[in-house]
Amino acid sequence: MPEIYDVIIIGAGPAGMTTALYAARSNLKILLLEQGTQGGQMNNTAEIENYPGFASIMGAELSFKMYESLTKFGIEITYGVVQRIEVNENNKAVITEDKMYTTKTIVIATGAVHKRLKIPGEAEYVGRGVSYCAICDGAFFRDKELIVVGGGDSAVEEAIFLTRFASQVTIIHRRNSLRAQKIIQNHAFANSKIKFLWNTLVEEVQGDEQSVTQVRVKNKQNNSSNTIPCNGVFIYIGLNPHSEPFFNLGITDQNGWIKTDAHMKTNIPGIFAIGDVRKKTLCQITTAVGEGAIAAQQIYLYLQKTES
Ligand code: NAP
Repeated sequence: MPEIYDVIIIGAGPAGMTTALYAARSNLKILLLEQGTQGGQMNNTAEIENYPGFASIMGAELSFKMYESLTKFGIEITYGVVQRIEVNENNKAVITEDKMYTTKTIVIATGAVHKRLKIPGEAEYVGRGVSYCAICDGAFFRDKELIVVGGGDSAVEEAIFLTRFASQVTIIHRRNSLRAQKIIQNHAFANSKIKFLWNTLVEEVQGDEQSVTQVRVKNKQNNSSNTIPCNGVFIYIGLNPHSEPFFNLGITDQNGWIKTDAHMKTNIPGIFAIGDVRKKTLCQITTAVGEGAIAAQQIYLYLQKTES
């Protein structure tokens, strides 16, 4: 007989780790599956200033602290890349590249990945100047000139982080006002190393085959084209849900975000979704954590009902 879990949590970001913590406190049999490192996007975030309890904390440190609180309950992360979920009459199966796990309920907490600009030169120069992770790659650009593309929280926060290394950071945004939270905007406007290029699209990343040397840009107002010399391009233009393995379940919208109700339930009984993969308006660590707690409570109630 295969081992049957009460809940399999797919993804060990802040949402998934919170569900694991609460489910453990309800004494449920848990499997926490992750395909990379615990913490998800927190690991790619330099400084976090809006998680209550910490005036400022590095993303990797918060991630480690969350994982530490799980180890107290003996919860460990099992590594595996989920291929699909199968829903059977009694149970559900989570299938990875080399294993099949059986469970009564599933929480999808797979998060989201950074969008690509899909312009010439972008894919070619990934790892040679094009990056989606300032905390991973910023230190390679000491005293260099950098471009950050985007106008949301990620672009502006990471541009500020990059000024620790770079001589200058130019934020190129397609409109003339930022989407980022006001407090983050104010930090950026006050930073003498940050310049802004408004109403501008980056159309091509160019280099000398070894590394990035410049970007070609177009001003949207007068259609003029120009090149800007730079050593690196950090792209933060939003997120795509990491939900391909679940497309066959009919729980996503047309863009791949998983639809749930306020209890984190998808339209399949016993399958829940939380965190950045979920269709919602506010993607924050705080909201991910709250959704993780709600899902765990709902799973407890679901198991009580189905097993009584
Ligand atoms: P986002 O909020 O969706 O912002 C994406 C930015 O990229 C927008 O300024 C958008 O321009 C621009 N953009 C989109 N497509 C583009 C394209 N093809 N070419 C040029 N520019 C393009 O994405 P995000 O900043 O990655 O944030 C994702 C979520 O995480 C958000 O909910 C955010 O609030 C959250 N987050 C929060 C924090 C925090 O609270 N500290 C930190 C990071 C992220 P427009 O403005 O014109 O649409």
